[in-house]
Amino acid sequence: MAPTGTTSSTSLPAEAQALEKYFVLDKARLNEIVSGFRREFKDGLKNFGRDTAMIPSYCLSVPNGTEVGTFLALDLGGTNLRVCEIKLTGNHDFTLKQQKYKVSEALKHGDAKELFDYIAESVDAFMTEVGTENGEDEAVHLGFTFSFPVEQTALDKGKLLTWTKGFACKNAIGHDVVKLLQDALDAKHIKVKCSALVNDTVGTLLSRSYQHGPALIGAIFGTGTNGAYIDRVETIEKLGKDAIAESLKGGPDAGEFMVINTEWGAIDNGRHVLPVSPFDNKLDRESINPRKQAFEKMVSGMYLGEIVRNMLLYLIDFSVLFDGHSSSIMNTHYGLDTALVSEVEAAKSDDEVIKVLTNDLGMAKEVVKPADVEIFKWACRMVSSRAASLSACALAAVILHTGQAQSKGTNDTIDIGMDGSVAEFLPFFEERMRAALRLILGDDGEKRVKMGLAKDGSGVGGKFAVSLPATAAVG
Ligand code: BGC
Ligand code: MG
Repeated sequence: MAPTGTTSSTSLPAEAQALEKYFVLDKARLNEIVSGFRREFKDGLKNFGRDTAMIPSYCLSVPNGTEVGTFLALDLGGTNLRVCEIKLTGNHDFTLKQQKYKVSEALKHGDAKELFDYIAESVDAFMTEVGTENGEDEAVHLGFTFSFPVEQTALDKGKLLTWTKGFACKNAIGHDVVKLLQDALDAKHIKVKCSALVNDTVGTLLSRSYQHGPALIGAIFGTGTNGAYIDRVETIEKLGKDAIAESLKGGPDAGEFMVINTEWGAIDNGRHVLPVSPFDNKLDRESINPRKQAFEKMVSGMYLGEIVRNMLLYLIDFSVLFDGHSSSIMNTHYGLDTALVSEVEAAKSDDEVIKVLTNDLGMAKEVVKPADVEIFKWACRMVSSRAASLSACALAAVILHTGQAQSKGTNDTIDIGMDGSVAEFLPFFEERMRAALRLILGDDGEKRVKMGLAKDGSGVGGKFAVSLPATAAVG
């Protein structure tokens, strides 16, 4: 295993070695990136309309694990639509019934009305199957976890700012997504009231806090990436002096703290601090959302395989890999799935790596030489360790921004809930994040960071927003 920042053996061809400068990040470079991130956080808290949107979630509290009740939750993520019924049992535990529904490419690119009709139908089908209890006239309350940037104006109101992760439905941007959903439900006479809208990162933060005690950050490293954290309301300058003063006065809709959805996937769209390589530029140019989600495109599961593929093609074009041979899969846009990067990183032998090349990527056996296997492993390692280092930069930027980097005594932990396929399945992801965190925060700072998967967080979190009294204290 090679942790972050480790350079390769000298047996690599010069063309490959010359690429390491885009992927191996030393302490000075990491700190520079973290400073850039912090600048964007501050700017987004001061001004509306920034790419790194720093969205006030209107979620003023986190659960403490004693909450009970049964709730319906809807989770539209990058890959699946899930409908869940969650029963909180009040001892940091919950049970969950869920059903996944496929969102077709046609729905992702069609009219928003079709997407929301499909979502409403899925809710209806789930309730029929599971037999969700609701009173004769009473609507069931639903928490909607919507994993895209939404400028919220209330817990149950918010306009979609932009699509990400391969979605591009028409007539959605600028519209209130709760209304789109509620209209679709009402038109079908489905007795469900959408009473909270949360980003998946907010859901993850709430769910982690319920299961594990108060957390500072909820982070998704999955198809896309993003983080939510708890900030002081007075820091959210763009809310205006009056609103801040009102909130600090207390009362049912007020509080000292608020969960902020950073939308860090859009950090550095201007590309001033990120280590952008030609492969990142190619990926961006060929994507459906060029010049957007710059950070996400270096970190998240939708893109890591594609960066590796771009690197391999470049080396093939120089005839320093596979003797200049390729395959039709290798030549196909998004033909190399990030799951294969995970397989290569986890491989116990070169034979396993060769199988990926020949079985999954269609390379002819005879062109795969031992030196090619080394280059393929190296490319996977470069891309995934950079993703982990950059992820650490985002976490560290939040930790520093919130003033949590300095220890305030013993047992002073910084808790982070995580979810997503990269966090769950990419080998060494946490180890490499920690190696970078040590460089940024020092050994003591890194040791205070506790991370854990808050699986199902994005679904489970949605209903906390429904159930919580807005005045409960943030721990
Ligand atoms: C979206 C975020 C979301 C993240 C993880 C990003 O593409 O902009 O809202 O939290 O993906 O799902
Ligand atoms: Mg999700």
